[in-house]
Amino acid sequence: MRQSQLFTKTRRDAPSDEVSKNAQLLIRAGFVHKEMAGVYSYLPLGLRVLNNIERIVREEMDAVGGQEIKMATLHPSENWKKTGGWDGVDVLFKLKSRTENEYALGQSEEEIVTPIAQEYVQSYKDLPLAVYQIGQKYRDELRAKSGVMRGREFTMKDMYSFHETQEDFDRFYAIVKEAYLRIYERAGLVAKVTEASGGSFSTKLSYEFMVLTDAGEDDIVYCEECTHCANTEVSQEKEGDICPKCGKGKLIAARASEVGNVFDLGTKYPESFSFTYKDAEGKPQTPIVGCYGIGITRLLGVIAERMSDEKGLVWPESISPFTYHLLTLSSEDESLKASADALYNALTKAGKSVLYDDRAARAGEKFADSDLIGVPWRINAGKETLASGKFELVNRKTGEVKVVSTEDLLA
Ligand code: ATP
Ligand code: MG
Repeated sequence: MRQSQLFTKTRRDAPSDEVSKNAQLLIRAGFVHKEMAGVYSYLPLGLRVLNNIERIVREEMDAVGGQEIKMATLHPSENWKKTGGWDGVDVLFKLKSRTENEYALGQSEEEIVTPIAQEYVQSYKDLPLAVYQIGQKYRDELRAKSGVMRGREFTMKDMYSFHETQEDFDRFYAIVKEAYLRIYERAGLVAKVTEASGGSFSTKLSYEFMVLTDAGEDDIVYCEECTHCANTEVSQEKEGDICPKCGKGKLIAARASEVGNVFDLGTKYPESFSFTYKDAEGKPQTPIVGCYGIGITRLLGVIAERMSDEKGLVWPESISPFTYHLLTLSSEDESLKASADALYNALTKAGKSVLYDDRAARAGEKFADSDLIGVPWRINAGKETLASGKFELVNRKTGEVKVVSTEDLLA
């Protein structure tokens, strides 16, 4: 994409009411536009990152057998009244139509997915079933000061699974847990897994996927030696304790952000809708339900927090809006422009994603913009190297510079 065509521009300052680092950087770099506290629109660069995260999540959810659907976000109030969520879920946004009908905005989709599954699951032969979607969620959050990490409107991947037995749920959970850890790793993060009480959903266990960041809203302790991790909201464990799991390492306290979780919902939702299937003997049974969330936009915010420096964002290649940022360093020099044009055409033809700063701007301004936007590889088209037909390739993260030819870049 030619930057001269990109309608967004970088800006020196973020809005004065924006206190979170992730939103400040994303707004300044032109990735998101703030509508109000906790509500953001995604602009071309931000949408490309979101799409890349969603692609990774989709691949991994498809790989565990999840079937993608797209559920309604405007919900009939009756479904929420059946499950008790209408009065029981404090973050639920409620609407009234001009004909005095009541609706809820989807804050989670158990109330919609359970009747869908009920319609198609009649026998044990129809189980297990796992469906997922990637879509908008609406929550009346009290605090929305963490930028895109806590939205009143945000994007979530939510999967729901239906099982005959607890053993089958446990089997599937173990598979999804591995898929989750792969998702975070592919997005450039390491997630720790905690066991916690299930909060408002049930008294059963849940599993939270935590990424360390001071911008997070959770306090955890984790073992310096093994994978043990606990949320201190529910656990008595504290810093310096010997790890209860391996008995060797000491616990370290840290701030973290919950980028995903898994709940064992038991039979609560099918019971609310009188949803049974016939077992092998033809007897009615209630399925066991699991739900699996990943905060897509929160993940983007956590990455912006963790992968940034004083100059701006530093995207991992897997989710960066572009792989290369090609800059012409002199706008007057026609032969330099021709070389950069040729490289841009060759790279895009080879399927590489390139943001091409072809604007008539000073080199210093282009460098500052490039650092702020944070594409992992910058290619400088400047007079000195082009005299020998070459370009400078700069690593955004390390600052390391190499002089390369078009062939090197295509290889
Ligand atoms: P939290 O404790 O942070 O409020 P939650 O337990 O309410 O999270 P779930 O309802 O299970 O979260 O949602 C699944 C995932 O969606 C969470 O793990 C998190 O990554 C993300 N998420 C939850 N609330 C928000 C929000 N307001 N803005 C952005 N992402 C969110
Ligand atoms: Mg919440």
